[in-house]
Amino acid sequence: MRLIILGAPGSGKGTACAVLKETYGLAHISTGDIFRENIKKGTPLGQEAKSYIDQGALVPDSVTIRMVEDRLAKDDCEGGFILDGFPRTISQAEALDQILASKDSGIDAVILVSTDDELIMDRVTTRRVCSSCGASYNVKYMPSKVEGVCDACGGEVIQRSDDTAETVKKRLDTYYENTKPLIDFYSARGLIVEGNNNIDSASCIAEIKAGLEAKGLN
Ligand code: AMP
Repeated sequence: MRLIILGAPGSGKGTACAVLKETYGLAHISTGDIFRENIKKGTPLGQEAKSYIDQGALVPDSVTIRMVEDRLAKDDCEGGFILDGFPRTISQAEALDQILASKDSGIDAVILVSTDDELIMDRVTTRRVCSSCGASYNVKYMPSKVEGVCDACGGEVIQRSDDTAETVKKRLDTYYENTKPLIDFYSARGLIVEGNNNIDSASCIAEIKAGLEAKGLN
């Protein structure tokens, strides 16, 4: 199964992605993760991408598309893949078409994880993370036993600097602006499979699986 996953920051896309990967035995290809890994290792690709990423800008297509093409050529993609963070623009979507067409292949479905903005705002602004071990908490739904102290390691539990209401609003605006054309692009081909995450991730994932099955994908 060859999938793309779209979803706003805080929509629950990460959870859906992990479950789909596991359920269908897919290679998870996150362009953001690949860039971060290359930056950490100090590779030429990482050095080139870093300045764009630090500014929150898109890495140029000449770099990104080649990187995805190389990744899709790896053996683990033969059993299917889920693309996360790519394509981000119509030109990337068109490049992806060409890459896959050259292998007589194509995208089977585009998963859209949707969650109301008010819920995202609530979930993200109440999210907290341990600054030492990265464990996740939520002041409303899953607080640490002692406020500000990690249950697992005793580290300091903090709010990420990009989890404030103002930043979340900005990230959501950017997401909708960038993603709307992609949704239209894939909708026109009847490829969108939506999962609503307003209630919980289990019902969202059940909806996605049913949508895939309706397309004969399982
Ligand atoms: P992400 O983890 O998906 O939010 O990606 C982190 C950063 O990596 C983005 O802000 C971009 O700078 C870069 N990036 C990830 N995917 C792409 C892409 N498809 N095209 C261009 N830049 C990307």
